[in-house]
Amino acid sequence: MQADSRKISRRRFLRESSVAVGGLSILTLAEPAGMRGAPAESSPVGAIVLLGPPGAGKSVQGRRLAERHAIPVISTGDLLRDHVRRGTKLGLEADSYMKTGKLVPDSLMTPILEERLSQPDCARGFILDGYPRTLAQAEGLDVLLKGKGLTPHIILLDVPDERVLKLLSGRRVCPRCQRVYNIYYQPSKREGLCDADGSALVQRPDDQEEVIRHRLETYHKETQAAIDYYSRQNRLIRINGDQTPDQVATEIESKLALPSHRP
Ligand SMILES: [Zn+2]
Repeated sequence: MQADSRKISRRRFLRESSVAVGGLSILTLAEPAGMRGAPAESSPVGAIVLLGPPGAGKSVQGRRLAERHAIPVISTGDLLRDHVRRGTKLGLEADSYMKTGKLVPDSLMTPILEERLSQPDCARGFILDGYPRTLAQAEGLDVLLKGKGLTPHIILLDVPDERVLKLLSGRRVCPRCQRVYNIYYQPSKREGLCDADGSALVQRPDDQEEVIRHRLETYHKETQAAIDYYSRQNRLIRINGDQTPDQVATEIESKLALPSHRP
């Protein structure tokens, strides 16, 4: 039996699906242009860069922006962890840096990022979560994006160090269901036990106070130069990150003033 030649296979895009490929979380929200008839759908959003100290809520705000504007959020941390998990050459090298809270060098990061940004789901735009971290990366990103005809919107989530320390060192995770708690701000009902399944909560090695202090130090030492670089060019959109996620999201949207995908 012959296949019906008139039958054109159409790729059905899910309205919203979170695809986790070995820890690499990519929000795929793309739809074929015109499917819903909203003008914002096909209009490019461009590149959005989310900067801020560890724990400032970059990934939460990244996901929100991704949903609202139907573009993927790309966390370089997730990208790296995915490479580590898959045991790629770049991943193994990156692992030795990540284990000690050091910045992964550009010679490893750039090719990983370049590959990801050239994938089709990034065509209308994308959100970079936690990149660039250095002045060299900021300059390199400008070159990379200029080649794509893009000038990134730079968003800085400002959060004081003391707040970051409590947010991160207070974090506890359920090893079974991955639910995240915070002993200061969002404790479980029974101390040390998951509300959903009663498992003993654990602290990630990355969340230990000593590691966080080191990350903050590195952040101020390295990333401040990138922030200054954008600031000098009047490209920095400064957001008060020490608010509720809803308030932060509202401030971002009002200052970005992009056409929204979802009203
Ligand atoms: Zn649990």
